[in-house]
Amino acid sequence: MSATLEEIQNFKGKYPRQIWSLFFSEMWERFCFYGMRGMLVFFMISQLNFHEKEANLQYGATQAFVYAFTFIGGLFADKILGFRKSLFWGGLLMIVGSLILATDPHKFFFLGIAFTVVGTGFFKPNISSMVGQLYKPNDSRADAGFSLFYAGINLGALLGGYLCIAIGKGELLTNVIPEGMRWNVAFGLAAIVMVISLINFVFTQRSLGNIGLQPGHPMAEVKSAPIPKWQEYGVYVLSLIFVPIIMVMVAKTAYTDYFMYTIGPLTLLYLFYEMTKVTSAERKKLWAALVFIIFSIIFWGIYEQSGGSLSIFAAKNLNKDLLGLDPNGVNNSGGAFFIIFLAPLIGLLWIWLNKRKIEPNTIIKFGLGFIFLGLGYYVLFATRIFVNLAGITSLNFFTLALLIITLGELCLSPIGLSIMTKLSTKNLQGMMMGMWFLASAYGQYVAGIIGASLATTKKGATNYDAFITYTDGYKQLGLYAVIAGVVLILISPYVKKLMQDVK
Ligand code: GLN
Repeated sequence: MSATLEEIQNFKGKYPRQIWSLFFSEMWERFCFYGMRGMLVFFMISQLNFHEKEANLQYGATQAFVYAFTFIGGLFADKILGFRKSLFWGGLLMIVGSLILATDPHKFFFLGIAFTVVGTGFFKPNISSMVGQLYKPNDSRADAGFSLFYAGINLGALLGGYLCIAIGKGELLTNVIPEGMRWNVAFGLAAIVMVISLINFVFTQRSLGNIGLQPGHPMAEVKSAPIPKWQEYGVYVLSLIFVPIIMVMVAKTAYTDYFMYTIGPLTLLYLFYEMTKVTSAERKKLWAALVFIIFSIIFWGIYEQSGGSLSIFAAKNLNKDLLGLDPNGVNNSGGAFFIIFLAPLIGLLWIWLNKRKIEPNTIIKFGLGFIFLGLGYYVLFATRIFVNLAGITSLNFFTLALLIITLGELCLSPIGLSIMTKLSTKNLQGMMMGMWFLASAYGQYVAGIIGASLATTKKGATNYDAFITYTDGYKQLGLYAVIAGVVLILISPYVKKLMQDVK
């Protein structure tokens, strides 16, 4: 082993050196994930002849399953595989999924997607948990580290989200790729970057000391009996069994509802069971984590309008007054673009405030996250100032709303990852991180329901009427977000008590 945990965590400067390697592995994984996600709806409609509504429902189902699987991926990492093996296994499944899609996306569409869903579940939560382990429990630099890591996430999201669909649609590299092969290459690109992610991780492992080792490994931080090999192989086999099941469930979206109704309560029951096995101080911290998780459902429910109703709003109600850019392109990638620049800066701001002893604690940061989110939605409402009778308003002003919403995201999302690692007991790290992402699954689910209710304009309504309906809805969402933020700030003394020494 290269360095001990103590040496890793006692790093000098603002960031631990290993964070850069994890940054790149996660960046390429997000490239693969968002590249694929960006192609789904378009591919289903244009290539598989799905109706718009059907394609959207199926898209929603894949998103719900992807994030729901993070709980399972995190749980198995804690109990059997450890973070490293989970991540590697998840990455392999994602490569297989992308390769299947690259071979024949028309024929094997749902099979490829199902592999990716399960793979992401094993990869996504566990890499974030490893970032957390680079820090001592009370290191005030952790939020800045997660903010930097979050920039990597969004760099991958931006590149993958742009390049894959552009290749598939034939807007990029058209003279090199034969027309009939465009989608194969686009999905193939997702496979290639995922290979890069894993190769990078193999090299990263050397500098991780004992972080992420399998439970029971002789060098593991928490000493326990070795895991029998059959259990490890059992997890691999089980995850392969999940593939056809997910395939069927994604293809028939009615199952998604049943799945969402059951998985949440089941995970909660399981968490309560685990809570009986820890000390009372640890239990309090887990309760605090649950408060953050529950609030994050509200956050994502409002935030995730970006993929749903806001993309319709962008297509129908925005002009091109921002450098002539396409409004949907701005809606899809504006957030990621802002994050890449703002995330490291906000991270440094936390460190700067900490030095002056005025850094807000996590609950207040969460509260601010909601308030920015709410303000952003009020700005969406205020696009009314510039609307014309045809129901078209300013893209510039819309982009300002995106910027404010992004500030909210930066006060909540990376901070949420960070606080999960701080509030979880050592043996529940993966599972709690999984629960954090499971909340995102519910957020996406709720977002779909909100979006659908916004979309129900009366028959014969004009584009202007639709604009009014949408903006009324955004004002309402803005209000809910601000209320959630105020509630969080009001209950902060109680949550603080539960958190004890954690900031
Ligand atoms: N955009 C972030 C990511 O991909 C956060 C996702 C989420 O938690 N909903 O990691």
